[in-house]
Amino acid sequence: MTAVYDTHRGPVVLSIVVPVFNEEEVLPLLAARLRPVLDGCGEPYEVLAVDDGSTDRTKPLLEDLRGAWPQLRIVTLRRNSGHQAALTAGLHRARGGYVISIDADLQDPPEIIPDMLALARADGLDIVYGVRVDRSTDTGFKRRTAAVYYWLMRRLAGTFVPAHAGDFRLLSRPVVDTLKTLPDQQQVYRLLIPWLGFPSGQITYQRGERVAGTTKYPLRKMILLASDSITGFSAVPLRLATAIGAVSLVVCLAFLVWTLIVHATGSSLPGWTSLITTVLFFGAVQLFCLGMLGEYVARIYTAVQGRPTYCVARDTDDELR
Ligand code: UDP
Ligand code: MG
Repeated sequence: MTAVYDTHRGPVVLSIVVPVFNEEEVLPLLAARLRPVLDGCGEPYEVLAVDDGSTDRTKPLLEDLRGAWPQLRIVTLRRNSGHQAALTAGLHRARGGYVISIDADLQDPPEIIPDMLALARADGLDIVYGVRVDRSTDTGFKRRTAAVYYWLMRRLAGTFVPAHAGDFRLLSRPVVDTLKTLPDQQQVYRLLIPWLGFPSGQITYQRGERVAGTTKYPLRKMILLASDSITGFSAVPLRLATAIGAVSLVVCLAFLVWTLIVHATGSSLPGWTSLITTVLFFGAVQLFCLGMLGEYVARIYTAVQGRPTYCVARDTDDELR
């Protein structure tokens, strides 16, 4: 893979994209571990820290770090747009021939970046996934929800989804350029990238614990990611609604026949229990199916609005021109 040349600033072989949201505790530790690895690679590189609307001391800290680290580039988003949107901003702006995305909290070890690059070059791969050997450092809740998520997405998405591959991965320039041609709405990269079908490999690693601070993925954001994953990659829930409707229809018809027979034979029943359970059951089924429909309608609504998923307030690279 050749470097991408920019007449103003020279070639960049490797871009590292780090989404950062309120990571003041983590940033100095990240820089201390990431920089030696990248300097040791011997390739021209840039680190894009995408500040996803942080409200703590992340902003001044990034400025300080940049003062002593010219390869650090700060892309500031106007407001918190979410992890995947921050990744999109980074991928769209990265200049490198290879782009590696990594979390800020050092759960993904920067030390395997050279191995990813070497594997991509040696085997001519366009994608190298970082795959977690085990999740022993995650909380029990995170492990269980992740297991359900990957199980469900493998069944629903209909494409190969590498299990336990998060957002630590290497992409070649052709992959990034392909991603840039897609509408940038509510992307879930861990599903979208395998779907593209480029030649890929994997490197396994031991996922560490978050070095400092707290998770920036509360339950609300996890549910949003799961919802975007399902509505973005599968129409199965919609078909499921049809199937539930069909089964309900058969059950209702049978019930109708039975009530007519009971009526015809003249035996009257108290009937309250069966009535109330039927009403409640079908009420619940209808609301559930409406909810599922609503998720898809919400996706269409957002797509029709056509608003960008992120707005960049500042890119320190633009100031060099
Ligand atoms: N992140 C972000 N915007 C958000 C939430 C998270 O840019 O709205 C970043 C965060 O700073 C980190 C990465 O996404 O670099 C992954 O978040 P985190 O480590 O908190 O997720 P977890 O590992 O707990 O799933
Ligand atoms: Mg983390």
